[in-house]
Amino acid sequence: DLVVVGSANADLVIGVERRPAAGETVLGSDLAVHPGGKGANQAVAAARLGARTALVARVGDDPHGRLLLDSLSSSGVDTAAVAAGGAPTGVALITVDPSGDNSIVVSPGANGRLTPEDARAVADRVLRPAPVVSAQLEIPLETVTEVVRLLAPGTRFVLNPSPPRELPAGLLAACDPLIVNEHEARVIAGDGALGDGPEEWARALLALGPRSVVVTLGARGAVTAEAGGDVTRVPSVRVDAMDTTGAGDAFTAALAWRLGLGESLPVAAAYAARVGAVAVTREGAQASYPTAEEVAAL
Ligand code: ADP
Repeated sequence: DLVVVGSANADLVIGVERRPAAGETVLGSDLAVHPGGKGANQAVAAARLGARTALVARVGDDPHGRLLLDSLSSSGVDTAAVAAGGAPTGVALITVDPSGDNSIVVSPGANGRLTPEDARAVADRVLRPAPVVSAQLEIPLETVTEVVRLLAPGTRFVLNPSPPRELPAGLLAACDPLIVNEHEARVIAGDGALGDGPEEWARALLALGPRSVVVTLGARGAVTAEAGGDVTRVPSVRVDAMDTTGAGDAFTAALAWRLGLGESLPVAAAYAARVGAVAVTREGAQASYPTAEEVAAL
């Protein structure tokens, strides 16, 4: 149902009283190791909802890589297209203080070695049969552009440009939709004025060439816009937010899957907002992702 192309990281988390300044050493909590990375998060979110999901990624031939492969498999993600080796598994070193503020260092590791050649190697078997392919930018940009080039004419391409950077026009034109939060919208638009409200941002982004745009607004829901079509407000679901980590990845995965089932963009986005809402009521990223039954019960 869905193919995700993207990163897989081990998130190494230590709780601290105070995040260390330059030259300083602080003692922290026991280390917690969580599977993460936007690609792996999206794949797990879709699989948990019941989507048949495959991930195209690269991990290291090391314990973190095996941890990621195990967590993906146990969530039901097809990992046959996850390559291993070439560099250590990507890691995020995260310190969190009692107020929830964090400092993060990311070593992309093997994610940075997911090459256009890797994409070509899985094109016929994995990419071309997919109804929807979803990507983010924690892997080399040239790999994402190669994926787009390899897709079958009928395959829908969904991009969350995170971490954000200015995008080549050809890549923008393939996005259906481009999914951004406010920060990503500002970077993608460059110096271009975005306008006053999220409906204006969506129109401004649409003018850059994608076939459709979704702007996510956290607790305020989302806005969808389609070339030659309507701009639609997607209401959020009111919940007690506990941890927003990975909510955007769950939203994107759910949206991409529902689009592949044939839903319209506003209908798929409304479903994705419910998935995002459940995800923020629970701790963690992948650990917070709901099943379809849990979304229905919301
Ligand atoms: P990102 O994590 O990429 O910045 P958002 O914070 O916009 O993404 O979250 C993605 C989606 O998850 C939102 O569009 C919304 O539907 C849902 N969501 C996020 N935070 C909340 C919240 N506090 N209450 C309800 N829904 C939320």
